[in-house]
Amino acid sequence: MTQLKYKRHFDAIIERVEKARLRLNDHHIVKIVAASKYVDAEAIEMLYAIGQRAFGENKVQDLVTKSEQLDALPIEWHFIGTLQKNKINHLLSVKPHLVHSIDSLELAHALNERLERDAMTMRVLIQINSAYETSKSGFLPEEVADKYAQIAEECPRLQLQGVMSIGAHTDERAVITKSFETTRRIFETLPNAKICSMGMSGDFELAIECGSNMIRLGSILFPK
Ligand SMILES: *Cc1c(COP(=O)(O)O)cnc(C)c1O
Repeated sequence: MTQLKYKRHFDAIIERVEKARLRLNDHHIVKIVAASKYVDAEAIEMLYAIGQRAFGENKVQDLVTKSEQLDALPIEWHFIGTLQKNKINHLLSVKPHLVHSIDSLELAHALNERLERDAMTMRVLIQINSAYETSKSGFLPEEVADKYAQIAEECPRLQLQGVMSIGAHTDERAVITKSFETTRRIFETLPNAKICSMGMSGDFELAIECGSNMIRLGSILFPK
């Protein structure tokens, strides 16, 4: 795709985001994180060139590689995948802007410990498995409030910013809506939570209508 065609494609997506946010209310602001896992550094640069600044990777190794390749650009890197404890050192070397996927107390403690050693802090979200799917990681809705408070108390190096969820894996709109609403309701009760990260290529408009203020778009942004 030429740059001009690509820009038109991107503008059309932004228009859809804009319409969805206005359906919620006109003060609602939505940030787009481009999930760049399907593409190489060159494609990231093309999207950067038309204004996108936040990019997310779901594998630590890919995040390290691409952030090194694109070191010259002031990209805001997000980590959106499941984090294994043995990859923490690698992840910290990138100093990501936000980690979306704290999914256990064990991980929170391990990350806190490493950050303490390096005298660093990190912005994080707590992942909620709001659709109760065994294939997904995250805290269950009924345990989030307690775990969030526990992490806030026991992991001072983690700067809790809010929550992340992946919508229910189904074509049934009502079921997806329910999973997003579950996350949004929890989000509203958590102290100082600012970010509600939910919505992907197939369900971002619905997620925004349910209160998401950060969407993670992958396949739709990078057409073949
Ligand atoms: C890949 C990925 C996305 C984007 O998925 P698309 O459906 O391609 O938009 C969002 N969130 C996470 C955690 C991902 O791994």
